[in-house]
Order: sequence, then structure tokens, then C-alpha cells
Amino acid sequence: MAISSRGDPGGTALTPYSIAIIGVGKIARDQHLPVIRRNPRFRLAGVISHSGARVEGVPTFATAAEAYAALPEIDAVAICTPPSVRHAIALEALAAGKHVLLEKPPAPTLSEAHDLAAHAAASGRVIFATWHSQYNPAVDEARELLSGAKLRRLTLDWREDVRRWHPGQDWVWDAGNFGVFDPGINAMSILAKITPGPIFVKRAELFFPANRDTPIAASLAFGSSAAESPNSPLTGEFEWRTEGDDSWNIDIETTTGTTLRLTSGGSRLFVDGRLAREAPVAEYEGIYDHFAALLDAKWSAMDCAPFQLVADAFLIGSRRIVEPFEW
Ligand code: NAP
Repeated sequence: MAISSRGDPGGTALTPYSIAIIGVGKIARDQHLPVIRRNPRFRLAGVISHSGARVEGVPTFATAAEAYAALPEIDAVAICTPPSVRHAIALEALAAGKHVLLEKPPAPTLSEAHDLAAHAAASGRVIFATWHSQYNPAVDEARELLSGAKLRRLTLDWREDVRRWHPGQDWVWDAGNFGVFDPGINAMSILAKITPGPIFVKRAELFFPANRDTPIAASLAFGSSAAESPNSPLTGEFEWRTEGDDSWNIDIETTTGTTLRLTSGGSRLFVDGRLAREAPVAEYEGIYDHFAALLDAKWSAMDCAPFQLVADAFLIGSRRIVEPFEW
């Protein structure tokens, strides 16, 4: 479900938006900081870091309240913490009159995500739930090619090594932080964008390590009004125990026999076995360009469709216990 609403002016098209980052971890350093610095529509004002992380050239604040008091010119914040703690941080930002960009997933629960959208609308601020995997030209092309098509088969295969991608990040195992659906929700965000009709989770098996609160793997069956029949095989495998090569693939066959393969997390598209689209990965550049456009237009964008699919998997999923996980 997309929630859009108008807000009040937060700057002019010619003045860079002053932005602060909350939570200086891997994704803040890998993407948000460098991408903000390269985008002339934004000016990095500071960072808010409870562990005191330093970023060259800007001040660090231990709390958001200190940052808002010291730098009232901050227009917006980018919240890059784990999802479980975002709601209170986002509410505080909105109450202080700041626009809000949320890393994915936007919140630990759908009701908190909807609550944030409502608060943003009531306070006249822009809120933006980002889904970085959607910002790939190959994903856009797949969506166009699939428009109006019927699906004969869909195989989603999302495998990576949790030890490689989340080294020591214990929060991924805390309830409210999604486990294997932390990366898996990226696949859901692509599905939600390209499927030529609503898609539903029909069955789910969730594999929980005996000593953890979130799944390490999941096996899903989907249904869709765009499927050829209710029995069309539309499946998703999510796996965090892979050692060796990652695989982030979505394979689709339509009723006309056309095959599409989105690989490398959505950055390459093969059609009938031939490379049809590949572009350098610039997902966060796309996110910040879009955020600037939303701020200019005073529009919010809280697309919860990818989140809904994951939430539904948890709602109807069978629980299987597997061997304990240690780093
Ligand atoms: P991370 O390296 O663990 O960083 C998260 C940061 O949030 C921490 O360094 C900490 O920063 C702050 N924080 C505040 N409350 C926290 C809490 N209760 N537990 C842990 N950290 C807390 O995680 P990340 O990989 O950057 O992921 C953050 C979000 O970005 C997740 O929602 C994830 O899905 C998303 N994301 C990650 C990647 C990736 O490649 N890792 C890619 C795309 C999206 P301070 O000490 O500065 O406060």
C-alpha cells in the first residue's frame, strides 16, 4: 500500500536541504554519507551517534535532541538504525519539524509504519520509506516488460552468507529486526514493483535457529492475480546459511513463453537468455534524487507493499527449529 500526502514547504529548489544522519553504521558509511556529499541538493549538517562515531567535517551529537537544539537549520534526517528502534526516533524528528528518510524496512511493524505516515501528514512533514533495490534501471525495464503479462512461473532465489554481510550484527537476530528477511525484503520490494498485479504470500515455512528470535531461512509460495492459474508455481527461497557465492535472482516465465532473469540484486536483466539491461549500481543516488524531488513537491512516500509481504510470511508461516547459530 502506498501512502502519499502533502506536507509544508521545507526549503526551496535552489537551497540545499540540510540533513543529519542518525545511526552511523555500515550502510550510513557505505552509502548515505558519500552519496549525500556528492548530491548538490543536500548539505550534511551532522551525525547523531549514540556510540560517538566521528565523521570528518561535521559535528557528532549523542542524541537527536542535542542536534536539533544546536542546529535548528536541519531540514531532514536519514534514519539508518536497525528497524526495531526507528519509530521513536522518527516521531521525535517529526515533532521537531524535520522531514524523515527511513532506511528499509521502515519500522518493525506495519502499524508503526502507518503511524509514522499519519504523524508526518499531521505535522506537514515529508516521510520517505526507501527501498534501495527498486532503484535499478533493470528493475524498471522488467516492470515495463511484464506490464499486462500473465505469469506461468516465478522463482525467487535470495541467498547470502549472514557472516559476510552482517558480521557481528547481533541485532539481526532480535525480534523486530527480520532475520533473513532483512535482505529478503529487498527481493520483496522488487517483486512488489515488477509483478503485473497484486501478489500474496500463500504459504511460508520459517526456519529459526534454536537460540535466535528471527529466521535464518524461509521458503515461500506466492499467489497472484497476474498468475496463469491458482496453481502456477510462484516461489521464494531465502537463505542466510550460504557459504561461497551469493545469489540474488528472480526468474520469471510468462504465458507467452518469454523468460526474464533479474540477477545481481536487480541490477542485471536477461530476457530470453540475452542480457537486456545492465547499469552501474547507483541505488542510493536514486534514493536521494527522489528524496529531493519529494521535498520539493512536499510529498510523502510510504510504500508498505514489500513490508506487507514479509509481515504476511510471519503471520501465516510454519515455524521450524534448526540448529543454533553462532557467529
Ligand atoms: P549497523 O552497521 O549495525 O549500523 C546500525 C547503526 O544504528 C549502529 O552502528 C548504531 O549507530 C545505530 N543504532 C541505534 N540503535 C541501535 C541498536 N539498538 N542496535 C544497533 N545499532 C543501533 O547496521 P547496518 O548494516 O548499517 O543496517 C542498518 C539498516 O540499514 C538496517 O535496517 C538494514 O536493513 C539497512 N541496510 C543495510 C545494508 C547493509 O549492507 N548493511 C544495506 C541496505 C540497507 P550509532 O552507534 O552511530 O548510534
